[in-house]
Formats: sequence, structure tokens, C-alpha cells
Amino acid sequence: MDIKSLIRNIPDFPKPGIVFRDITTLLSHPEGLRYTIDTLTQKSIEANFRPDYVVGMESRGFLFGVPLAYQLNAGFIPVRKPGKLPAAVHTIEYDLEYGSDKLEIHQDALSSHHRVLIVDDLMATGGTARATAQLLDKIGCEVLGFAFIIELKELGGRQRLPDLPIITLVEY
Ligand code: 5GP
Repeated sequence: MDIKSLIRNIPDFPKPGIVFRDITTLLSHPEGLRYTIDTLTQKSIEANFRPDYVVGMESRGFLFGVPLAYQLNAGFIPVRKPGKLPAAVHTIEYDLEYGSDKLEIHQDALSSHHRVLIVDDLMATGGTARATAQLLDKIGCEVLGFAFIIELKELGGRQRLPDLPIITLVEY
């Protein structure tokens, strides 16, 4: 199946000059959705990922992280923007092109002996995934690798991530 043909390209969103890769059209396609989750699962097994938990980033990481966790018999843990998680959190601040942002995870969601797979819909600069890995380092758990539906190659995100296996389904 050609996943790329199910991803919609939106020029000049959210800013002029940026082509947004819209995964809502992939999610709404029954066979496309099934194929995407099945392929993510297959590649995760081939990469020998056997996570206790899948960690997904707000918000599109949730959409793929939960079904992947289900398929891998793992639990799912959300990483969220500040102020959204109700219990005590660990926080990481990370740099954006202009300014900075923060991500949070529940302090009691994971322990140091847990094995974790990080999932998001898309890797651009790699900043979000790197910050998530740093958040998990604070807890001391083992990050097995990363899984993304889409990789924007020319932004060099891989170079910003720890030297771990990375699964991707579609490249631009
Ligand atoms: P990075 O931190 O790697 O630069 O950006 C990745 C994050 O931004 C991901 O959480 C992803 O959801 C979001 N993102 C950036 N550009 C796009 C895009 O074109 N399409 C989608 N679906 N997400 C994007």
C-alpha cells in the first residue's frame, strides 16, 4: 500500500513556505490505517523492540502510539504540553526555532527498570523526540528506539537523536 498517497500535503501551513504533511487523511482511510499500524508493529518486532511501554507525544503521537502499544502488548504513556497532566510531573524544556517549549510526563508513570519505545507521527528537526528521550533519561528507564510514520529527511532529525534504532514508514 502507498501510504504517501494517503497523506495530504497542505502548502503554507502553519506558516508560508512550509508544506504540512496532514495525517488525518491517512487515519480516516480504513485500509490505510490498518496497514500503517500493522507495518509499524511488524517493523517494531523486526527491530526487536519489546517495550514495556510505548511513550507518545501530544497529540498526534497518541493516535499511533496507543494502537502500537496494544499490538505489542505494552502499556501507553502520554508525554504532554505543560499543565495538562493532573499528577506530579517531570518537565523538560527544549529549544525551538524561535524560543522554547516544555514537555511533561507523570513522575510515577515509569520506573528505571522499564523498557520504552518512543512514538510520534513525524520527525522534523528531531527536537521533540530528543526532548522526550531526555525526559525518560531523568527517570532512568531504557529507551529502546524510536518509531515515526513520517521522516522529513532534509531537516537532519536523526543526527539530534541518541544512537538508537529508528523506524520510519515514509520519507520526504
Ligand atoms: P520536530 O520536533 O522533530 O522538529 O517536529 C516534530 C513534531 O512536530 C511532531 O510532534 C509532529 O507532530 C509535529 N510536526 C511538525 N511538522 C509537521 C507536519 O508537517 N505534519 C505533521 N503531521 N506533524 C508535524
